Amino acid sequence: MSEILVLVEHAEGEVKKVTLELLTLARTLGSPAAVWAGPGITAEAKARLAEYGADKIYVAGSADLVDHVVAPKAELLAQLVAAASPAAVLVAATAEGKEVAGRLAVKTDSGVITDAVGLGEGFVADQSIFGGGVNVRAKVRRGTPIVAVRPNSTAPVAAAGAGVEEEVTVALSDSARAARVVERVKQEKGARPELTEAAIVVSGGRGVGSAENFSVIEELADSLGAAVGASRAATDAGWYPHQFQVGQTGKTVSPQLYIAAGISGAIQHRAGMQTAKTIVAINKDPEAPIFELADYGVVGDLHQVVPQLTDEIKKR
Ligand code: FAD
Repeated sequence: MSEILVLVEHAEGEVKKVTLELLTLARTLGSPAAVWAGPGITAEAKARLAEYGADKIYVAGSADLVDHVVAPKAELLAQLVAAASPAAVLVAATAEGKEVAGRLAVKTDSGVITDAVGLGEGFVADQSIFGGGVNVRAKVRRGTPIVAVRPNSTAPVAAAGAGVEEEVTVALSDSARAARVVERVKQEKGARPELTEAAIVVSGGRGVGSAENFSVIEELADSLGAAVGASRAATDAGWYPHQFQVGQTGKTVSPQLYIAAGISGAIQHRAGMQTAKTIVAINKDPEAPIFELADYGVVGDLHQVVPQLTDEIKKR
């Protein structure tokens, strides 16, 4: 069976959920081969990759792969594409993953599809484009298909792969070392799931009214085990940190459930959330554009509706 390379996203030795999703997807199309870039792979990480179907685990342990910005990962993958002739390369459609995908496409003279929300036979991808305004089916017709898949597009399902490890020595160009990481600032992890990986996201907008009022959004999120998001109006007002902004100039999320409270549904916000499987909108204005895309809508004051919802959920 043809090999499908999957670039592993990892932090502090742990494999991120999106990688398990990509391995699950890769299994439907060929034989998954995980590519670990950087030092510090643990026995647990290898076991996790094999548990989710990695038949092969390429381990490139050079510190250069993480000490320099993005380019070395693209060179590593280009080297593996040349050596292993995989049927496709899958990366997560994160900010870094998309940049790796673009660089890799140039290096391998291949086509790239970003923001895929599905991938089927013949590597035909469902893709969300133009800021999420249009969904298309796309297929790479040149070189090795490189597909950046959005987190939460596939539910991760375990199914053991052979997990055969192969060490890789990467030969980096000088230009790949041009941009060096000078500092890493650790973000407080907190108890909530990471925004782009969360299965449920509860977001608040200008309708929330103040930084203090964001506690109602957080309480609902916590009752559901969800991440908290915010519209740009809320982050620009300083009510919630920018790192939680959802939208065109914020993060793209694709959860199973997205709850938008006090958010009008501007195109720039939609761009970051409209591929969510189920969308619930809470807004006091029945004409708010968010209702056009919501699966369920509640017309009402979020300061009444959200606490009631939280109480109901807590009872269950
Ligand atoms: P508003 O549009 O002001 O909507 C507030 C909503 O809350 C209204 O619908 C109102 O009816 C409702 N409301 C008020 N009070 C209550 C209440 N008590 N209960 C229930 N509902 C209530 N925006 C983003 O979100 N993300 C981005 O990444 C982003 N990028 C942008 C990039 C560019 C280049 C530009 C030009 C804009 C961008 N924006 C982005 C901004 C975007 O255009 C909107 O201005 C923004 O999304 C509006 O945020 P909002 O829905 O919270 O506020």
